[in-house]
Amino acid sequence: MPTIEYKTDKQKKSFYNSRAWRKLRQQALERDNYECQWCKREGKVTVDSIKEEGKRKEIVLNVDHKYPIEHYPKLALILDNLETLCIYHHNVKEGRTIDKISRNKNKKKRWDDEWW
Ligand SMILES: [Zn+2]
Repeated sequence: MPTIEYKTDKQKKSFYNSRAWRKLRQQALERDNYECQWCKREGKVTVDSIKEEGKRKEIVLNVDHKYPIEHYPKLALILDNLETLCIYHHNVKEGRTIDKISRNKNKKKRWDDEWW
């Protein structure tokens, strides 16, 4: 059997929709106690949000591949390669820090209009 690749968006999408991934993702969340593992290392607890009636559930936690499937397809379904991260830390890991995002959006941040 040839190694499955996850290079294109289509390949990734079908992976993330697969029953095998959903099952493993659930296992990772349970193993990690539904907590962001980076926040945990910083002594904070970040858990998933609770769905409110009539509202779309806010996504807080992500199950991340420590070694990205794009480069390590063989590790795609290895529990040890998974880690529960909050959106913030997921972005940090991907190099998309919140800071960077807001800086780009709002090139010059003004500090003189703080209210005291
Ligand atoms: Zn976190």
